[in-house]
Formats: sequence, structure tokens, C-alpha cells
Amino acid sequence: MRNVVIIGSGCAGNTAAVYAARANLSPLVVAGHEPGGQLSITSLVENFPGFPEGVNGPDLVENMKKQAEHFGAEYMNGSVMEADLSKRPFRLNIDGEWMETRTLIVATGASARWLNLPNEQRLIGRGVSSCATCDGFFYREKEIMVVGGGDTALEEANFLTRFGRRVALVHRRDSFRASKIMVDRSKANPKIELVMNTVVQDVHDNEQGVVAGVTLKNIVTGEVARRDVDGLFVAIGHVPNTKPFIGQLELDSEGYLISHGGARTNITGVFHAGDVQDKVYRQAITAAGAGCMAAIEVERFLEAEGH
Ligand SMILES: Cc1cc2nc3c(=O)[nH]c(=O)nc-3n(C[C@H](O)[C@H](O)[C@H](O)COP(=O)(O)OP(=O)(O)OC[C@H]3O[C@@H](n4cnc5c(N)ncnc54)[C@H](O)[C@@H]3O)c2cc1C
Repeated sequence: MRNVVIIGSGCAGNTAAVYAARANLSPLVVAGHEPGGQLSITSLVENFPGFPEGVNGPDLVENMKKQAEHFGAEYMNGSVMEADLSKRPFRLNIDGEWMETRTLIVATGASARWLNLPNEQRLIGRGVSSCATCDGFFYREKEIMVVGGGDTALEEANFLTRFGRRVALVHRRDSFRASKIMVDRSKANPKIELVMNTVVQDVHDNEQGVVAGVTLKNIVTGEVARRDVDGLFVAIGHVPNTKPFIGQLELDSEGYLISHGGARTNITGVFHAGDVQDKVYRQAITAAGAGCMAAIEVERFLEAEGH
């Protein structure tokens, strides 16, 4: 019987593990399909406080893990396939093995949707990004392209005009799904060029392995053309990793966990941390902060229950 199992090993899960381990709760962290979480696929992180020169994303999450292990957290590879939260102790099916725990922290994140271009995954962190807040600063006076047609894509395009020389907003349809106010704002922004009825077929790099251009296809005319860009921002949404909890934890229409205040979910003893609940900020530091909150709530909950 575990005191606490933390599902997910990104910034939220690792921070929860540091706090829970230092509260002597011997947490178990289930690492999931992406050990280290989303920062493990990026390169330089410049906005995590405490690193004036920036820090390599994979190093940051690896150090968080080491810090948690130093205080007694245990990590295991594997994914939670199924959860029975109908009564306590909770039961988790981790790759076929069932395990029991008094409390649970769900820190499973929300995966960015990608375009599935042949060269896309290889160039994430090298010119391909899913986060303007995170990476916009790297593109001062550069040619930027944003792909998407919803509010997020248009917000990101407008935000990126603070940095880029020009921002091309590529959308596969002839009209946007985004709100009228965002569309009007984008049309009025002299730095934004709207490229409609167009899809990106691939992204290309230069000899240094950094994004240098894309191949575009106009789906009305069929015309294929190459275009030089320095940064490709994919803004076509995120998928919260909540599948094992469907029907048990309260989810919103997009599948994100609904908070019941602090780090609480609708089930007593189950807490949330990070991007799996937060579709607004989606940052390493906010996820880490949420992990801290969840672990403190677990500690107080177990204390109140006499454990
Ligand atoms: C390319 C890129 C660059 C970024 N750059 C920055 C940046 O510069 N600065 C910044 O602040 N933010 C950045 N972000 C955003 C940041 O990475 C996220 O906000 C942060 O990682 C969220 O942390 P999290 O722990 O909530 O989720 P995640 O990091 O997504 O971690 C989720 C974890 O849950 C695990 N998991 C999922 N399902 C299961 C399951 N069923 N069982 C077990 N485990 C499971 C996964 O394996 C993973 O370990 C970037 C994101 C991307 C994609």
C-alpha cells in the first residue's frame, strides 16, 4: 500500500515528488510514455527562474528527478492503463499490474498536437515549437510561421509580432474558427500575413539542423511552393492525458480535469497538478507550482486521516 502515487514525471510530477518525499511519504512516481514530460523534447528553457543563462529542458527535468530521488522518491517506468477510484484505497493498473494507494496525484500533462510532418519531431526545439510564450523571444527580427485557425493560433500570431519581422498565419480553410475579435485584430496587424486554404507539407532545416523553410500546398489551386521561415509554431491544440480517468474524474468538454479548489478533484484523496488541469498558462513553472500544491494537500489529507 502506497501513501501516494504520482502519475507523470514532468515538472508537475517531479515537483510533487520532491515535496512528498521531503514530507516522508515515500512517493512512487509512474513515469509514463514520456519520462521527464514535455520539457524532455525541448532544448533551451530561458524562463524558468533561477537560471540566468537558461537551462537545457531535459537537464532541468532530470535534475528535478534526482532531487526527488535524493529525498526518497521512487520512480518506475510504465503507464497507468486503468484506474479504479470508486473507493479507497485507489487501485491503479500499471502496465497490467494492479497497485493500491491511499492518495493519488494526477500529473499526466496535455500533449501538444503536431502536424505529423516527416521532419517535424526531429526539429522540435530547433525551430519547431508549440509554445509562443516559451519560444517567441528566440525569434527577434526573424521570419515566423504559425499554423492553426482557432483563437490560440491567432493569439500566438499576434503575440509573436512583438518579436518577428513578419508572421505568416497558415490555415487550411478559407475562414477561421477563432472569435471575430481575434480575426479582426489579426487582419489589422500589419505584421501578420494570412495564408489561407493552405497546408504545410513539410519543414526543412539547414546544415546546422535548424529550421530554414517549409513546403506549402494551396489546397484549392494545388500549387506547391517552398518558403523560407526561421520558426514554425504549431498551434492546433493540445490533448489532455486523462483517458484512464474518464467516467471517474470530472473532465471538461476538452478532457481537462476540473478543479474543485486548490489541487482537489471531485474525488476526495485524488489531486491534480500541472497542464492536465491547466489549459491557460501551460508553463513549466506553473506546472511545478501546481505539483507543490498537490503534494502539500496530500500531506495534510493523510495527516488528517491519521497516516
Ligand atoms: C517543445 C516545447 C517547449 C516548451 N518550452 C517551454 C519553456 O521554454 N518554458 C516553459 O515554461 N514551458 C515550456 N513548455 C511547456 C512545458 O513543457 C509544460 O507546461 C510542462 O511540461 C507541463 O508539465 P506537466 O508536468 O504538467 O506535464 P508534462 O510535462 O506534459 O508531463 C506529463 C507526464 O505525464 C506522463 N503521463 C501521461 N499519461 C500517463 C499515464 N497514463 N501513466 C503514467 N504517466 C503518464 C508523461 O509520460 C509525462 O511524464 C514547452 C512545451 C513544449 C512541448
